[in-house]
Amino acid sequence: MADIDFNALAPEEKQQLLALMRMKKKAPRDLDVQNGGLLDLDAHDGDLLGNLSPMGQQQQGRQQQAVAAQQAAAAAPQEYPEDPEKIRVVVRKRPINKKEREKGEDDIVDVNMERSFVVVNETKLKVDLTKYLEKHQFNFDESLDESVSNEDVYQVTIGPLIHTLFKNGKASCFAYGQTGSGKTYTMQPLPIRAAADILNFLAKPQFRDIFLHVSCFEIYGNKTFDLLNSRKRLNILEDGKRQVCVVGLKEYNVEEVGIVKQLIESANQQRSVGTTAANSDSSRSHSIMQFALKTGSDKLVGKLSFIDLAGSERGADTSDNNRQTRLEGAEINKSLLALKECIRALDSDARHVPFRGSKLTAVLRDSFLGDQARTVMIANISPTNVSVEHTLNTLRYADRVKELRKDKAERAPGGVTPGNNPAYHAAVERAHQPDGAMAGAAGARDRSPLRDVKMNRVRPPTPPPIEQPQGINKVNAAPISGDLEYDDDEEMSRHEDLMDTILEEEEQLITAHRMQIEETMDVVRREMALLTEVDQPGSMIDKYVEKLEMILNQKMEKIVDLKGKLGRFKDHLKEEELMSKTLGPAGARKW
Ligand code: ADP
Ligand code: MG
Repeated sequence: MADIDFNALAPEEKQQLLALMRMKKKAPRDLDVQNGGLLDLDAHDGDLLGNLSPMGQQQQGRQQQAVAAQQAAAAAPQEYPEDPEKIRVVVRKRPINKKEREKGEDDIVDVNMERSFVVVNETKLKVDLTKYLEKHQFNFDESLDESVSNEDVYQVTIGPLIHTLFKNGKASCFAYGQTGSGKTYTMQPLPIRAAADILNFLAKPQFRDIFLHVSCFEIYGNKTFDLLNSRKRLNILEDGKRQVCVVGLKEYNVEEVGIVKQLIESANQQRSVGTTAANSDSSRSHSIMQFALKTGSDKLVGKLSFIDLAGSERGADTSDNNRQTRLEGAEINKSLLALKECIRALDSDARHVPFRGSKLTAVLRDSFLGDQARTVMIANISPTNVSVEHTLNTLRYADRVKELRKDKAERAPGGVTPGNNPAYHAAVERAHQPDGAMAGAAGARDRSPLRDVKMNRVRPPTPPPIEQPQGINKVNAAPISGDLEYDDDEEMSRHEDLMDTILEEEEQLITAHRMQIEETMDVVRREMALLTEVDQPGSMIDKYVEKLEMILNQKMEKIVDLKGKLGRFKDHLKEEELMSKTLGPAGARKW
């Protein structure tokens, strides 16, 4: 690692490197001759975002649209592997921006695209307050630096999956990372580009009976809203065949790429702005755009989902002062955890996929099942020192997502992947030392992707590091000990469980209330009939009394039942409120 100078490459050399990297990793293909053998990395960003005609204005037939789609897609080489990997984890570093530069922030992330690893250079302080550099290395399927265009991201993520969609494939692509790391920037152009490729396929005679349907919805807290239908509240139900359905979701039949762009823009406008505090952003919700390929008789052929996840740092809002914010944080934490587990299950071909763990994973259930399920995780990271904790957290999460594919012996302590670095082996040695510090840290991570950072926050000052060759290469190796932290961890665990209970109870309470209203309406009809009956000449008063009593008892039973649910829910809310205060100052766990 030390022999590689990351910053020595000029932009053209980087482009050349990317081109070579692709040639090395995938089937050989022609370089772009117009650019003298170099790929123009930005050539297609404009295609994805260019001016397109308003929805419905162009009434061209599918064949004509396909020509346009072919042109858009033809620019990019498309020799993909026949059977793409089940899981791909790609990291993308965004460029440092003007504001960050002006504030004097440093770019601390080095990306080696050729060997596909990322190094985070973290400055730390020894107890004598002298600075030292801790290097954290992570390997991924692809590591993309700030020079990489959206078209290139498409080529290494969704592009290879398009043809599997036509073979009953279910593919999903997630953008994970802290708010501001580039999730939306990365995710938004992908459906436009994918639509171009898909429509290209659909123009072929053998796919004439297949249609592209597009829908878009948002999961906010534990509620789901249709982003293409005035944010209509949607219900998620499991049908008799154990298929999870988003009931009432609006789907658009799309025959031209421009419409997808319009739909994205329209969904953007409707994406949630929270009702609490000053969160005028989309960081608290997961937004999901789905492409369903269906036959004319509505049979599903393939499905592609693009998921722009809630900001990963939002999971830590569970210690916020505001209850609503805490509940949203808990739901985000839960869904990111469940997502990781579902993807890991996919990797290990596990029989049980824990999709019930959250609304997000429940909705994506069919994308985690079957031979043709494919997942791409794009971990977005910010480049500067200010974001170092989030960046490390994101990289650890992404590393865990695909950890199972690695040989056990190759697995690194705390998410560090080795490469050929002797420092890695030194870290492994340390991990096996009797204090078991690293094992403890890794164990904590199993429970929550956010726990690392939480733990870091309550940790006493890190002891001075032991001298190591070629810079230190370890993650989260600081010893964690002492009853205080153990108790704190236990307490957090209990708090997480309670949050889970509350989220479930909230849903049950609202469902029960809704059912009760429906039943009440039915009872009111019966009461009206009873009154009409008793008003008739010669009616039997005894019968009336008996029936009325029965109705009132039924009403009372239902009310007592609902009140019981409400009472338990209130108790849990109160308990949670108290617990959140004993967890320490909110600021201590926020980052
Ligand atoms: P997120 O969705 O993760 O909160 P955004 O996608 O909104 O983050 O990105 C934050 C800002 O950074 C936006 O202004 C976006 O245009 C910019 N940005 C993100 N990634 C890149 C990139 N790869 N190249 C250029 N600008 C980027
Ligand atoms: Mg965003």
